[in-house]
Amino acid sequence: MNFLRSFSISIGFLLFLLLLIPNVGQAQEGRTYEVSSAVLNVRGEPSNNSEIIGLLSKGNNVMVFQEKYGWVQTYYGGQVGWIAKHHLIPLTNTHTADRNVSENQSSSNNVTVTATSVNIRSGPSTSYSIIGSTYSGDTYPLVATDGDWHQVSLANGSRGWIASWLTDKTTASEESNQISPADTVENGLTDNDNTAIDSSTGGSLAGYNIVIDPGHGGNDPGAIGLGGVYEKDLVSSTSDIVVKQLRAAGATVIVTRLGDHYISLNQRAHISNSYNTDAFISLHYNAFPIIGVHGVNTYYSSQSDYQLARNVHSSLVSNVNLNNRGIIQENYKVLRSTNAPSILMELGFITNPNDLSIIQTSDYQFKVAQSITNGLINYFN
Ligand SMILES: [Zn+2]
Repeated sequence: MNFLRSFSISIGFLLFLLLLIPNVGQAQEGRTYEVSSAVLNVRGEPSNNSEIIGLLSKGNNVMVFQEKYGWVQTYYGGQVGWIAKHHLIPLTNTHTADRNVSENQSSSNNVTVTATSVNIRSGPSTSYSIIGSTYSGDTYPLVATDGDWHQVSLANGSRGWIASWLTDKTTASEESNQISPADTVENGLTDNDNTAIDSSTGGSLAGYNIVIDPGHGGNDPGAIGLGGVYEKDLVSSTSDIVVKQLRAAGATVIVTRLGDHYISLNQRAHISNSYNTDAFISLHYNAFPIIGVHGVNTYYSSQSDYQLARNVHSSLVSNVNLNNRGIIQENYKVLRSTNAPSILMELGFITNPNDLSIIQTSDYQFKVAQSITNGLINYFN
């Protein structure tokens, strides 16, 4: 008894000491690590007793923002998550590596990205697949040029193609520059959608810039649901439909992620903040270890976002048949860092059999698109 008491007092004292020393072993902001264990739990707090909010697997890359008591903080599914640090291997900073390369070469052999956010493709046209993305100021050694496209050497040793008119080495003439669709990640015109251009001249959302943010992508699968369904894939197909509907209503739509690649929360917010954005909507599907948990909810961060959350969420729950989990205030980073009114929608649980069977239908995803469109029309009027 005596031993136990003094033991717990010592532990309490140690914990107290730790609280007095904030930022112990603070990791560098935004450092990238690779998961070294087969499966790794992401927890809500830096403790083994804390709730598991997600899973990562070997080879996944995570961006780490701070460190506490041997745990590192990242973001998972739009919320703060903690990972035991000893399961992570630090990766070298690719940006630093790029800079070193460019210093050693004459600048004429390098290409610097000038647009905010640009797709890297497997070949010299927009019909080739997207293999990654790059951002304003990134510099790459130039390998070859084919028409209006530059082939560059990437930090991982592979090669990719970037539209020259989005770099400091423009090959396109003024004329072809106008005809060529921009290949920026956030610019939805990449798909050469002419109806989108026509419709932006009319319709009830004409004149509004809407940023649609499909959650996760690339190495970040988001939540993993029943049957191994990835949140990132369902989010992609849903956002494609949402984007089409919004354009049909006349909106100018900017998409933070086209295709399956990783974009950090900072980059998502940066894309939104680079435009005169009227509303930012992040799309997600939810997961929970208890199979019975189901339904949809909408998150907002600050009071100025509440009306947007209210309009879109009420439009959603009047249109779909999933359980209404309500509108919740949460200090999500992607919402906090976005200047425009912003919301994060959790469009159902991929860990609940009934939700999942509905979510996977295009009928449901159309209803979501319709709900967002109608909610925005109500919001702006
Ligand atoms: Zn998510």
